Amino acid sequence: MLKINEHYLKLQASYLFSDIAKRVAAFQQANPDKHIIRLGIGDVTKALPAACISAFHKAVDEMAVDSSFRGYGPEQGYAFLRETIAKNDFQARGAEISADEIFISDGAKCDTGNIQELFSTDARVAIPDPVYPVYLDTNVMAGRTGVFAEGRYQGLVYLDSTAENKYVPALPSEPVDLIYLCFPNNPTGSTISKAELKTWVDYAKANKALILFDAAYEAFIRDESLPHSIYEIEGAREVAIEFRSYSKSAGFTGTRCAYTVIPKECAAYDSAGNKQLIHPLWNRRHCTKFNGVSYPVQRAAEAVYSEEGKAQCKALISGYLENADLIAAAVRELGYDYVGAANAPYVWIRCGRDSWEFFDLLLNKAGVVCTPGAGFGKCGQGYIRLSAFNSRENVVTALERIKAALA
Ligand code: PLP
Repeated sequence: MLKINEHYLKLQASYLFSDIAKRVAAFQQANPDKHIIRLGIGDVTKALPAACISAFHKAVDEMAVDSSFRGYGPEQGYAFLRETIAKNDFQARGAEISADEIFISDGAKCDTGNIQELFSTDARVAIPDPVYPVYLDTNVMAGRTGVFAEGRYQGLVYLDSTAENKYVPALPSEPVDLIYLCFPNNPTGSTISKAELKTWVDYAKANKALILFDAAYEAFIRDESLPHSIYEIEGAREVAIEFRSYSKSAGFTGTRCAYTVIPKECAAYDSAGNKQLIHPLWNRRHCTKFNGVSYPVQRAAEAVYSEEGKAQCKALISGYLENADLIAAAVRELGYDYVGAANAPYVWIRCGRDSWEFFDLLLNKAGVVCTPGAGFGKCGQGYIRLSAFNSRENVVTALERIKAALA
């Protein structure tokens, strides 16, 4: 008799987006003429930058000719892309990362989800609350938690991100081995300073812990004092893995390209207490379970770093950030506390009542879809998230409707 991995049975069904979809469908059925504006899901709405499209086309044409055709590529990614990333995203910022420490992949979701299989099942895991749910669910699947009770999985250390700590969690009061951090943050849009990030790096060093730093939204940073990479912090090479993605920075959500950085010094320990380097183990995993990102997609990603590509991505991001500014201004005008928008495409709003109640209010009275904060964790109760990923026209209309609904 084949037994199931019972840890999967502990998973809470992902009610969040299916619940949202159900409520939106019911509203649309009852109001067939109403144009619903979605400021909920964090998917981009604007086309790929022209530089990426032309590199993409050119690479597809290369695949049509025997002499330039490419079959299986290096699983870690082509050198042309890894070298460009090392130079532009790290060395240009004074972070010493080399091309062979970069692993190209098809998504930060997959990488942040898969990385945990390198670590022991009894690793003590610290996870922010509210959180991007992938970190949580993949640890549940791996058996690092007990059951779900009173809104939380037993056995995890939750890092509360609240108004009191300005949505940057404090160091854990009990020992942990694996720490998930995400800045600029999804869902709160909050950011971390270099000094605050240094306390986490120092903690990880002192406790032989490892930080998994998700920088999927670094391209939205406007405040130049903020770190784009954890490797801007001294000592981070030994204790941090970083995840990046072209999904939000260059509109690649449907094209798929991302990367993970594992410095050569980065280590965990075996049961005898011996240091084991993570880089060769991830390399082994990547080569065993992943075929690499397609050649045309890697050429399209490389074009992000051309002069035109840089300018086009900047314009793309500025457009979303201007939407975020408009949302923040409207929320301020309405008198709600919020965080985010300044360096992120999300605005996290303290709505002063149940998240779902506020969701229903915005849907029914304004025809606007938000994301109820409670879906991101216990600390998200009483909040909603508005996303800046939409057209200017839709954002402006949505805000007019929200103002009228809440007036
Ligand atoms: N990390 C965070 C914090 C995200 O919010 C998202 C997507 O919403 C991802 C990672 C996923 O990135 P990708 O599209 O590269 O899988």
